[in-house]
Amino acid sequence: METVSAYFGSLVFDDRVMKANLSAKVYNSLKKTIDEGAELDITVANAVADAMKEWAVANGATHYTHWFQPLTGVTAEKHDSFISPSPDGGVIMEFSGKELIKGEPDASSFPSGGLRATFEARGYTAWDPTSYAFIKGKTLCIPTAFCAYGGEALDKKTPLLRSMEALNKQALRILRLFGNTDVKCVRTSVGPEQEYFLVDREMYEARRDLRFTGRTLFGATPPTGQEMDDHYFGVIKPRVAAYMEELNEELWKLGILAKTEHNEVAPAQHELAPIFSTTNIATDHNQLTMEIMQKVALKHGLVCLLHEKPFAGVNGSGKHNNWSMATDAGANLLSPGDTPHENAQFLLFLVAVIKAVDDYQDLLRISVATAGNDHRLGANEAPPAIISIFLGEELTAILDAIENDRPYDAVEKTVMKLGVDVLPKFSRDTTDRNRTSPFAFTGNKFEFRSLGSSNSISCANIMLNAAVAESLRQFADILEGADDFNAALHTLIKETIHEHKNILFNGNGYDDAWVKEATEVRGLLNYRTTADCLPHLMDEKNVRMLTSHKVFTETEMKSRLDITLENYAKTVIIEANTMTDMAKKQILPAVTEYAASLASAADAKKSLNPDIVCGYETKLVTKLSLLADTIADKTAALEEAVVSVRAQNDVIAQAEAVRDTLLPTMAALRAPADEAENLVAEEYWPYPTYGDLLFGVR
Ligand code: ADP
Ligand code: MG
Repeated sequence: METVSAYFGSLVFDDRVMKANLSAKVYNSLKKTIDEGAELDITVANAVADAMKEWAVANGATHYTHWFQPLTGVTAEKHDSFISPSPDGGVIMEFSGKELIKGEPDASSFPSGGLRATFEARGYTAWDPTSYAFIKGKTLCIPTAFCAYGGEALDKKTPLLRSMEALNKQALRILRLFGNTDVKCVRTSVGPEQEYFLVDREMYEARRDLRFTGRTLFGATPPTGQEMDDHYFGVIKPRVAAYMEELNEELWKLGILAKTEHNEVAPAQHELAPIFSTTNIATDHNQLTMEIMQKVALKHGLVCLLHEKPFAGVNGSGKHNNWSMATDAGANLLSPGDTPHENAQFLLFLVAVIKAVDDYQDLLRISVATAGNDHRLGANEAPPAIISIFLGEELTAILDAIENDRPYDAVEKTVMKLGVDVLPKFSRDTTDRNRTSPFAFTGNKFEFRSLGSSNSISCANIMLNAAVAESLRQFADILEGADDFNAALHTLIKETIHEHKNILFNGNGYDDAWVKEATEVRGLLNYRTTADCLPHLMDEKNVRMLTSHKVFTETEMKSRLDITLENYAKTVIIEANTMTDMAKKQILPAVTEYAASLASAADAKKSLNPDIVCGYETKLVTKLSLLADTIADKTAALEEAVVSVRAQNDVIAQAEAVRDTLLPTMAALRAPADEAENLVAEEYWPYPTYGDLLFGVR
């Protein structure tokens, strides 16, 4: 068998391939573009395109596509073939630098939130040379950004790249102040841990709700659930193991550093974590990972569910966004150092993040808001919807000592002077595993845990990068003007801790007392749903910050607000329609049929002997008939609710109607249907149950 190192990255036009297939001049010029963002010369682009095509064709590719991430959440591709007719009647394989750099897909089928008038339906895609091209099937995929002709971003990559640039610019200003003149750039890095469920494909096909919406809309709780906790880190079942093996191979061929795999909390739930990489690459890789996870599952007779809440009452799926900042030389800026100088720099970056998260709690919450994720946040399994930061006791104590000019170490009794004294050592292990915190410091990185499993990680990282860039900008403005750098630094860190310590919380985020304290005492935000938080995207402070760092224009923000709210309403409306469909065509007929069979069984008994009471049958038939009436009533109510929600033409009003009317009406229909499921004989029930789905893969 081939070793992993022999095929790792074999489908990627990576540095090794570039070095081997490009002239030194072209390679160096491309490298400069990749590393320093230098502009790409068309002759270089032509040479790269040619080498890319040769390599792709040699690896079986016949087509190429500009691969991009429209605002719908999935990825999009428009395939063009390399083939071009030659004068002798044959064909030659062609691909020019122009085609590599820029594509022109018909943009009209992608949502733009009003950014693109229909008379100018075209947009263009532009190559992101920092993310390597790769082959998928028979297609060379070129990671690209997607913009309207006016330059407005129509995708998730463009603002992500802009946010990285914003952070780079401000972080460099800070590093220069610390005397770091060699650093060329600062990049953010991300390692997203991806949770998912695997269910049997045949059972999946038998459930309309899973097929149409990705989650179950009905389903009684199985007799055994998470209380049987042998699943977590337990033995991986053979079918799942075979799946994971093939998944790893496919990801490795694409140069994706998939590393760990273990069972998650819920039955049938699993996790995959890659080794971290630069944010835009990590984002591309995560999109690709989600796609490949689903594809490989089908080959194994499985379906991979990426929905945040496929099963009510069972742990949902999220994505942990491990995030840090590093210099081009590889120095992690969130890693505490060994010298006083390094420590002070670490603390400044640390408080910059603390300030950013506090100032822009709303943007972070907004960045993870979807109909699916609303089912998790605040549901005692995922972080609360309230954003707070976990630092661990030791680091909290250090910050507390700095804030109050108190000695940190009770033994030495000396007050630490930043930039002069060494920071007391704190062990990584004490940055404990508080799973309830939405934003946790884990030794040398922060882990943002509120992301939903199906979310693109772009949105969260755009907001995080931009918010931190803003803290750093304010810090740099102050420090650049200071006469005594160390004194100004000390005061700045101290004051920042003082101003933002309200966001720090090491306790249990699931505790009801926390919700009370956070909102009533500390004044933290608690936006429980998408409809609650999204409108705040356009709050003046948010518009000012995001536009001043050129991450978004105000028009782009408004378009994203509209698209996100439209998606929210659309998603829930589809769910509601699926429910009424299942209720009318599957559940009610099943309940009626079973009740009829019970009634005729009773009749049959009575015809043998009129004195037989048939109490069991009679009671059950009565109960089922009442339930059927309720189900029918609630179904009608839900149909009405859909009509009224649809009638709303303002996106915000519509989202509020979804929250206040549609979702509660759906819950009201589900309850009697689930009750009926528990009463109806197995062979009458029209689709696989929770028990079948959750324990069906061996
Ligand atoms: P755990 O969360 O189980 O302690 P690790 O700390 O090893 O696991 O890492 C979890 C994820 O964080 C992995 O995807 C890892 O690659 C990523 N990670 C580690 N260091 C960094 C960093 N400096 N920046 C971004 N992600 C990181
Ligand atoms: Mg983790």
